[in-house]
Amino acid sequence: MTSLNRFSHPLTSSLLELHDRLSTKGFTILFCLIPSHVGIYGNELADNLARSATNSLNSPVPVNDVKKYVKSILHSKWQAQWDLKNTNKLQSIKHVIDCWPSLPIRKLDSVVLTRLRIGHTRFTHRHLLLGKPAPLCTACQCQMTVLHILIECRRFNHQRIRCFPSSCITLKDILYKDLHPQLFTFLKMIGFYFLI
Ligand SMILES: [Zn+2]
Repeated sequence: MTSLNRFSHPLTSSLLELHDRLSTKGFTILFCLIPSHVGIYGNELADNLARSATNSLNSPVPVNDVKKYVKSILHSKWQAQWDLKNTNKLQSIKHVIDCWPSLPIRKLDSVVLTRLRIGHTRFTHRHLLLGKPAPLCTACQCQMTVLHILIECRRFNHQRIRCFPSSCITLKDILYKDLHPQLFTFLKMIGFYFLI
């Protein structure tokens, strides 16, 4: 108990003060941690008592608690909106809204990785700036996209199988948090790395 910062939270400090007061009056207080009331006889009663105890507390709520609560509500709403964006390119590799971990890679690789994740590269999107038609894959007769180049295009099947030995690979397999270790090798083999 002494290792706790008594001023870290108003509820904590008032509990500690109460504990100290009772201790000096000769009470012995035992603390018992119950991880969950589920399956324990009297759980409803315990829950109701816990609720009634908090209801009677008339202490102000610390700003940090409010911030955390608002943050978690906003995050849930943001996630719910993101769940509906199933046509978004990034949704296929990032279902859950959280921060990508920083990876021990060179800055240039990091830029390349970010462009691949958002599906915008110089090669696939430069035409928008130049007012030209979108680049087409002459082998497959379709528009060049990051998905097409990395996953679909049959021209790169040989290099793809060498780098990603799997019969069914997805963008998520290659670009998710811990990116595939052969990603940059594959990009260089097919000559796409320096066009990104
Ligand atoms: Zn193709």
